[in-house]
Amino acid sequence: MTVPETNGHGPIETPPRAPSPVHKFGTLAVHAGSPHDPVTGAVIEPISLSTTFAQTSVGVPVGEHEYTRSSNPNRWNFERSIAALEKAKYALAFASGSTTTAIILQSLAAGSHVVSVSDVYGGTHRYFTKVASAHGVRVTFTPSIELDVEELITSETKLIWIESPSNPTLSLVDIRAIADIAHKSGIMVVVDNTFMSPYIQNPLEHGADIVVHSVTKYINGHSDVLMGVAAFNSDSLFERLKFLQNAIGAVPSPFDCWLAHRGVKTLHLRAREASKNAQVIAEALEASPHVIAVNYPGLDSHKQRKIAIKQHRNGMGGGMLSFRIKGGKPAADRFCEATQIFTLAESLGGVESLVEVPASMTHMGIPKEQREAAGVFDDLVRVSCGVEDADDLVADIRQALEQVVVREQKVSNGVANGH
Ligand SMILES: *Cc1c(COP(=O)(O)O)cnc(C)c1O
Repeated sequence: MTVPETNGHGPIETPPRAPSPVHKFGTLAVHAGSPHDPVTGAVIEPISLSTTFAQTSVGVPVGEHEYTRSSNPNRWNFERSIAALEKAKYALAFASGSTTTAIILQSLAAGSHVVSVSDVYGGTHRYFTKVASAHGVRVTFTPSIELDVEELITSETKLIWIESPSNPTLSLVDIRAIADIAHKSGIMVVVDNTFMSPYIQNPLEHGADIVVHSVTKYINGHSDVLMGVAAFNSDSLFERLKFLQNAIGAVPSPFDCWLAHRGVKTLHLRAREASKNAQVIAEALEASPHVIAVNYPGLDSHKQRKIAIKQHRNGMGGGMLSFRIKGGKPAADRFCEATQIFTLAESLGGVESLVEVPASMTHMGIPKEQREAAGVFDDLVRVSCGVEDADDLVADIRQALEQVVVREQKVSNGVANGH
């Protein structure tokens, strides 16, 4: 079959090509950036471990590549795939999601100002507050960006950083509303789309200028690669970020690019299934007498359900949710220890379901008051729904809730712990 950009051959500076608008997500996921090997016909690309590429005469490489930090066939193919899936002209891959953030911040001149939502990923917060400041970039955080972004913009503001949904409370930001305000002042909008994946949300279509992902999560999807990617349309941004990708050299290995590319070929299947599972689990949790509240953008009770309907594919809620359990921190801890299918672990977006307690794990670094102001209470449990069978997952959640409640009752009757 003929699919755009399957011919990976051209001059070395040829950027990843724009996707064809005629192909849909699943087709692009499988075929974009997946040329058959022109020599052997191999349907799956070989892993190009070679760090250097032969030249026929001085400065004239045989193919498109010279040295693997500057460009590598596996990285190119992965980047083309992500550009197609995020409906972008360009994508650039990095050694981690955190590197991707660092490179974007690094591209700003000293003295630049950034406005960010306050509940960003912990590592992003750490970079903004402890690293960016060292090269003269100042970041202002706001818990209500839609209300006060205009007041926070100064003549130095160059970037607005959004995470939608936020972690772990799953609140949403209206990307279009923020982009309209930002663009009036020539400010770029970055959206960290890690939680939704390109299958459920394409921020560039809502006015964002750059979309970033921790590939580590849904895009690779199998919890075995650490990697990041940024996608965008601007030619000048491509020049700048590609220069930094090479100059700083925090690039992913060919093997990781190959694995992540293999992972992304099933992104639509995995993200759809995870979202379906999350919907069923969220509804079961909402109906449970042991639960105080559920944060899930797929529920009608979600305070920004309208934004989910506008921004997400078919109004899907995605695979992530969080909920407050009755019984405080001990109940949250015990719940996560009582699940049989859900593994107690950090991270998300893999085929296997995970649970964690943000206040004691991923978000421990944030002071309690600040944490609770953002809705991250000690009794909040975060769930990453995998692609196991929904019935089994719901049954596991139910049995774990029951165990916690039974333990609670025993404790209050004084029979637990041998008393
Ligand atoms: C994990 C994560 C990151 C950081 O990505 P790494 O690949 O771990 O460096 C950034 N943003 C979000 C939303 C994440 O979940």
